[in-house]
Amino acid sequence: MSTGQVGRETFDEVMVPNYNPQAIVPVRGEGSRLWDQEGREYIDFAGGIAVNALGHCHPALVEALETQGRKLWHLSNVYTNEPALKLAQQLTQKTFAERVFFANSGAEANEAAFKLARKYGHDHHGEGKFEIISFEQSFHGRTLFTVTVGGQLKYRQGFEPVPGGVTHVPYNDIGALKKAISERTCAVVMEPIQGEGGVIPADPLFAQQVRQLCDDHQALLIYDEIQTGAGRTGHLYEYMAMGVTPDILTSAKGLGCGFPIGAMLTRADIAESFGFGAHGSTFGGNPLGCAVAGRALELISDPQLLVGVGERHDQLVEGLRQINSRQRIFREIRGKGLLIGAELVESWHGQAGQFLAAAREQGVLLLMAGPNVLRFTPSLIMPQGDISEGLAKLETAIGRIKASE
Ligand SMILES: *Cc1c(COP(=O)(O)O)cnc(C)c1O
Repeated sequence: MSTGQVGRETFDEVMVPNYNPQAIVPVRGEGSRLWDQEGREYIDFAGGIAVNALGHCHPALVEALETQGRKLWHLSNVYTNEPALKLAQQLTQKTFAERVFFANSGAEANEAAFKLARKYGHDHHGEGKFEIISFEQSFHGRTLFTVTVGGQLKYRQGFEPVPGGVTHVPYNDIGALKKAISERTCAVVMEPIQGEGGVIPADPLFAQQVRQLCDDHQALLIYDEIQTGAGRTGHLYEYMAMGVTPDILTSAKGLGCGFPIGAMLTRADIAESFGFGAHGSTFGGNPLGCAVAGRALELISDPQLLVGVGERHDQLVEGLRQINSRQRIFREIRGKGLLIGAELVESWHGQAGQFLAAAREQGVLLLMAGPNVLRFTPSLIMPQGDISEGLAKLETAIGRIKASE
């Protein structure tokens, strides 16, 4: 049942080749299942890279989008709008934050966070306080500033000169941070669990020591919760489970459950540095995105849903362990909630892409986090029957790869 008009091959004809999409084109989704142009069905462990937190086409979100779609689409920031105000109210009630800035993506939320940290440093400590410290292997987006702050050289190479005043130190190494931090540091930026970098959780003691070092040096602590936030780890935001409160937090991905939206959250005293005219965005705070995210946040912050994330974590990890007891393919299974990484044994390092393709052929969609790690970021409400079915298909795919060696 091909639509006959466009297909995967069209991509190479009309799109910039910065992606290399899988051989199928999904056309419809419902819950944790997807269907491609040929009508083939897939179980979705990828969730749009930790975006579709309530699965595909959740009826309550479709409802929110349709209702808002008949009322008001866009206003510009010359006016404010009800969905944005209500979403900001929810976010400030549910988190440490007192002020919210809306953007359209994760990178834009981080761009706002980094600019705010610089501006706050300037305002309170003078021109010399501009340095941003982040961690090796971290990922913060693909704009020029965010690839510069991100700790992966490959995203930066060829785009130089990049903005200055950014330093990288190893993650989970407090000694290295202690050496690097100084009175020049305006902010330290971290992901509570490095997502793209390989699903690597921060050591709890390390996280507390980072907070302390920031306080000692009057540097702001920025948590990039773009991947870990919006219920992904089984907490509304992962900082809540860590006993550490950041000064600025960024959220995107699961926040809109598939409708593009990003948010930067902070305290009122810090927000003062973004006075009138200091920063802006044409679409940030768009009524459609805010209406969807508002409804999504109501559903995701339900304690019972968050408990369900932990249950699904256990089921998925146990299933992966069982597969491993038979296949001996994973070196380590790690992560929290429904952000799970399965690192391949060393002899299969570099081959994660091959597993994605083989899994897709068996009707299950996964992600990778670098070339050595299979990543699972499914819907937070994935039916438990879909999890077991997806795991069975994954094991078939693994068996095929091993047999074809
Ligand atoms: C995905 C991601 C980003 C970038 O978000 P975009 O919406 O792609 O700009 C930034 N930080 C983290 C931790 C992410 O996972």
